[in-house]
Amino acid sequence: MQRVAVVTGASSGIGAATAIRLASAGYHVVAAARRADRLEALAARIRDDGGQAEARQLDVTDRAGVDALAESLDRCDVLVSNAGGATGGDQIADGSTEDWRAMYDVNVLGTLNVTQALLPKLVASGDGTVVLMSSTAAFVAYEGGGGYVAAKHGVHALAGTLRLELCGQPVRVIEIAPGMVKTAEFALNRFRGDADKAAAIYAGVAEPLTDEDIADAVAWAVTRPSHVNVDLMVLRPRAQAAQHKVCREP
Ligand code: NDP
Repeated sequence: MQRVAVVTGASSGIGAATAIRLASAGYHVVAAARRADRLEALAARIRDDGGQAEARQLDVTDRAGVDALAESLDRCDVLVSNAGGATGGDQIADGSTEDWRAMYDVNVLGTLNVTQALLPKLVASGDGTVVLMSSTAAFVAYEGGGGYVAAKHGVHALAGTLRLELCGQPVRVIEIAPGMVKTAEFALNRFRGDADKAAAIYAGVAEPLTDEDIADAVAWAVTRPSHVNVDLMVLRPRAQAAQHKVCREP
């Protein structure tokens, strides 16, 4: 029996690295995101390495599309709801409701959509796992992060509620909360393509986490014995003692 892992936001960064790790752990990976060309390249790379993967174009905010993906799958053992991100770095006084809504849509409602759609199959698997990608922003506010902080608090709330509601059913709910991870696109997207602003996030930080560090944590949590639920894993680089306490070399 080939177990199936659906990874959203698999076209770059943490999601792509997670897809690769779960494929090497023996899962048939369904790699989902909006950019089909990148997903196809990822799936081909996984297959070249002897793994199993398929690319599925998906916008997690499109419920009909999410339902169609769920219906097309024979089974689902693992869902990694990773699609998300930040839009803008404005303070509350200036932030646009459009940015806030976009962040809530993809991070919270996107997670709700994929979780609801795949839950029957996760339960039917007899040993399902939901991994939700939140952030240290799910716990601590920071200036200029209001909309993202609010959205990731929402993801944390969803994870905690779901775990309570599924108690007694064969599905684990794991929340992964990364701190600073240097991925190619996250900060660039946040600052709407402003490479200088994006680079400033990581300036002087000796070793920010990498997408592979997070993928490693996801794979570890998912591959624990079924009765072990890693409720919450917070990961930060050594140089980041807290959200606002980052050691930067000159
Ligand atoms: P990336 O920007 O590289 O990845 C985001 C992924 O989400 C992309 O694959 C993107 O693909 C996908 N995505 C965005 N919107 C949608 C959508 N509507 N439907 C489907 N897929 C979508 O960032 P990271 O890899 O760094 O981040 C991954 C997750 O980790 C996010 O949830 C982020 O908030 C979280 N995180 C990141 C941290 C960091 O420092 N980098 C820290 C803490 C948490 P596409 O555009 O092709 O759809």
